[in-house]
Amino acid sequence: MTATSWHERAAQLEIDGRAVIGGQRVWAVAGQQFENLSPIDGRKLGMVARCDAADVDVAVAVARAAFEDRRWAGKSPAQRKRVLIKFADLVQQHGAELALLETLDMGKPIKYSQSVDVGATANCLRWYGEAIDKVYDEIAPTADSSLALITREPVGVVAAIVPWNYPMIMAAWKIAPALAAGNSVVLKPSEKSPLTALRLADIALEAGIPAGVFNVLPGYGHEAGAALAQHMDVDCIGFTGSTRVGKQIMQMAGQSNLKRAWTELGGKSANIVCADCPDLDAAVAAAIGSIYFNQGESCNAPSRLFVEASIKDQFIEKALAMMPSYQPGDPLDEATVMGAIVDATQMKTVLSYIEAGKADGARLLSGGQQSRTASGGYFVEPTLFDGVNSEMKIAREEIFGPVLSVLSFTDLQDAIKQANATSYGLQAAVWTADLSKAIQTARALRAGTVHVNQYDGDDITVPFGGYKQSGNGRDKSLHAFDKYTELKTTWIQIG
Ligand code: NAD
Repeated sequence: MTATSWHERAAQLEIDGRAVIGGQRVWAVAGQQFENLSPIDGRKLGMVARCDAADVDVAVAVARAAFEDRRWAGKSPAQRKRVLIKFADLVQQHGAELALLETLDMGKPIKYSQSVDVGATANCLRWYGEAIDKVYDEIAPTADSSLALITREPVGVVAAIVPWNYPMIMAAWKIAPALAAGNSVVLKPSEKSPLTALRLADIALEAGIPAGVFNVLPGYGHEAGAALAQHMDVDCIGFTGSTRVGKQIMQMAGQSNLKRAWTELGGKSANIVCADCPDLDAAVAAAIGSIYFNQGESCNAPSRLFVEASIKDQFIEKALAMMPSYQPGDPLDEATVMGAIVDATQMKTVLSYIEAGKADGARLLSGGQQSRTASGGYFVEPTLFDGVNSEMKIAREEIFGPVLSVLSFTDLQDAIKQANATSYGLQAAVWTADLSKAIQTARALRAGTVHVNQYDGDDITVPFGGYKQSGNGRDKSLHAFDKYTELKTTWIQIG
């Protein structure tokens, strides 16, 4: 499709901002709404239900009833599999509409909404559907006189709270394993990007997920989000978002009913490129591509680049040559690779970090400005700083924007120490042709995922999550079932 036809389609879109509770589209009990604006050009997309504690009470009661009568949990894994695979197929069939909503709502290029976000969402639903009838329970190796069965049961009512950077994918990482395991779910999307989550709930119903099993409540974090985290009848909360809010979620879970609380939080990932890197061009392309992808709004973006001093000038020369291809453009143009920042607040945050970098004495080599080339929305140039050290604010704090900081090193052990000198521990990378060095460095890096001679190897089969203040638990892979199931031991006396 051309940019013009995407724009024409966008103009014809009818936005339904009502919540989905018990299979029905409903406005918030109190009738409150909020405006949903596009970061591309500030246009109003529609009004969205501003759900709060009253709506949470209704949705949790509906989800509880659905769980208790076993309309979903009582289906065999093979039946749930069929429905989830149909759900995945329908996501793909509705792919153009979902991609358009994602792009309009949070500003990412339509090229990636289609190829990455829709595809990964469908794949995630399909994968957990396919997996669920292949997971076996256990029998413990006890004495002959008894039999001890170790079985997994759904935890019950799962609340999922997700951020705005990959609205559909983050939702899918929670709902797919939770639903596959037989839970009921109440999903709260970010107030900045609620539209695709609402459509996913419609599509789930069409696929055959029974009404009440998958509910979506749009609203603000301190209202609907906090009410879910504090609710006495929510059994488990799966949260993805900032470390600041993740800490509050853990507190609210602890102060209410000690619901299981799983958090996927921020990052400040380090990418270490040694002088013996086997393919410098590949290292440059990965460093640049991974930080500027999704406008830098990725939790695992490698925002700290440690380059061995002897190759740094060459590395930077190659990096600068790539910058023109990452200039922001119209997100509805399929050639665009860098879209809009999600809103004015986030854009101001990113620009203030750029100012802090300059004030701390880092050398601005490229970018650093709001981009004036685009449609009047919130665009920031891809930005590259050299001469950064680990004390600077831009090297310590998560920016969540297209800003890359280059730090150089002469001693690998010191680079590893600096890479680990952060409260985060989501991802890291090392580039070297020396296998022993690669493995020793990978072992020493305190991160949930370490890449060797690549960045962002991505597959639904591998766990995703962090050490330290990047969270607990893991999304993706079979390990995600650990979050949404309880282990039950049943002792049987045999005699
Ligand atoms: P955020 O923490 O501000 O919000 C995340 C969600 O929490 C939103 O739905 C929001 O409405 C809700 N929320 C806010 N305050 C709340 C409260 N008091 N109680 C309950 N819910 C509340 O994060 P964000 O700005 O939407 O997303 C960006 C952050 O997400 C970054 O830090 C990024 O690193 C992180 N992230 C992590 C991963 C991961 O897998 N580790 C993936 C994507 C994003």
